[in-house]
Amino acid sequence: MAAAAYEFLVLGGGSGGLAGARRAAELGARVALVEPCRFGGTCVNVGCVPKKVMWNTAVHAEFIHDHADYGFETPSVKFNWRTIKEKRDAYVRRLNEIYENNIKKAHIDIIQGYGKFTTDPEPTIEVNGKKYTAPHILIATGGHPAVPPDSKIPGASLGMTSDGFFNLEELPRRSVIVGAGYIAVEIVGILSTLGSKSSLLIRQDKVKTVTKSSCGLLDVTVTSLVPGHKPTEGVIRDVDCLLWAVGREPNTEDLCLDRVGVQVDTKGHVVVDDYQNTTRRGVYAVGDVCGRALLTPVAIAAGRKLAHRLFEGKQESRLDYHDIPTVVFSHPPIGTVGLTEDEAVAVHGRENVKIYSTSFTPLYHAITQRKVKCVMKLVCAGKEEKVVGLHMQGLGCDEILQGFAVAIKMGATKADLDNTVAIHPTSAEELVTLR
Ligand code: FAD
Repeated sequence: MAAAAYEFLVLGGGSGGLAGARRAAELGARVALVEPCRFGGTCVNVGCVPKKVMWNTAVHAEFIHDHADYGFETPSVKFNWRTIKEKRDAYVRRLNEIYENNIKKAHIDIIQGYGKFTTDPEPTIEVNGKKYTAPHILIATGGHPAVPPDSKIPGASLGMTSDGFFNLEELPRRSVIVGAGYIAVEIVGILSTLGSKSSLLIRQDKVKTVTKSSCGLLDVTVTSLVPGHKPTEGVIRDVDCLLWAVGREPNTEDLCLDRVGVQVDTKGHVVVDDYQNTTRRGVYAVGDVCGRALLTPVAIAAGRKLAHRLFEGKQESRLDYHDIPTVVFSHPPIGTVGLTEDEAVAVHGRENVKIYSTSFTPLYHAITQRKVKCVMKLVCAGKEEKVVGLHMQGLGCDEILQGFAVAIKMGATKADLDNTVAIHPTSAEELVTLR
């Protein structure tokens, strides 16, 4: 049976796949998109979007503590997890529909199911027994949360992952989050701020900087999970939510990449060059499946840049992976872009690196009993003091970072920041008045 032919065949309707498919269609390509689940991928369904809704919920819980300081008499406040879960799920469903409509409006064919490569001489994709081909095939299948095998940690599969977090019908009374990455920090922050007795389990060798939070921080290695509870030393009892946030694995295992000579690294990530080319001509990969800068805007930008290269003849169109700003939605949030102090020293030498930093109580907290500091650090390099890194944690740092990231990407120096008039009174103004 002849394979249905397209100009661009995209595996995965998440951030990277959707962006690449839609941009290619805009540029006139005949596109098909293969997706087995709901449109939007990790970000929309079990990542950024529902996470940020829960973070906003937790921020509400924090601000409630300040109401009295601002003159509001608050009667006792009750929190209903189910209400926000229902509203959040409804919003996600709305987004799923919007994404699907956008694909249809762009005249992209939807192929529902899991795609995998066949043994045909030219790269061909099989979905539910039917074959599809195209001169350009994009792998954008993302990843999934890792869970240690039961053979290594007996009972590990009793735990949940960030995916399961979004299915929770109630706020857990006692939560244990295992992991040291941003997903662990964010989820433990949400749970503890909303009132779950929470602990973050983190191995000492993984601790570099830890945000001070209301959750307990335990330096341990989990050795086993047992249903029920016996009072034994070294045992955390009565845990009703054990969540693994110990990394993510790429969705490449079932793609049969070896059939077409697409190389993967030791962790299963698709190996790509600077232009998202895999080791097989005509096959590309973007997003989490490549294992580099696992962020939605990175997947989107790489997908779009690729479409411009393939279907608009822009040979140099590729994503520059330097100076990617990121935020950890902790309490308060952390914003970071560019090199850390240690990285800058390694690149430029200690004598060529100058650090400017500050720590202060934001005006918002001047009149609250709850005091949460804001810390900021600017990393500058060379005689001209080019800003090569910016790291901050505090109220509003999530929103402050984006604009400064533009300036840093453009090569701003400390003098450029100094020459910018401050906006008063804000926390951001500290960054243009640092001495
Ligand atoms: P995905 O969005 O995962 O899409 C992959 C798609 O491929 C899925 O829809 C999947 O069903 C489909 N697929 C899988 N196998 C096949 C197959 N064989 N055939 C066809 N389709 C297939 N990023 C941020 O920028 N900001 C955040 O605040 C943020 N928060 C996050 C919070 C959590 C809890 C998590 C887990 C992630 C978060 N991320 C965040 C990361 C972000 O979600 C990902 O970087 C992004 O979704 C990656 O996009 P992608 O297109 O590579 O993959």
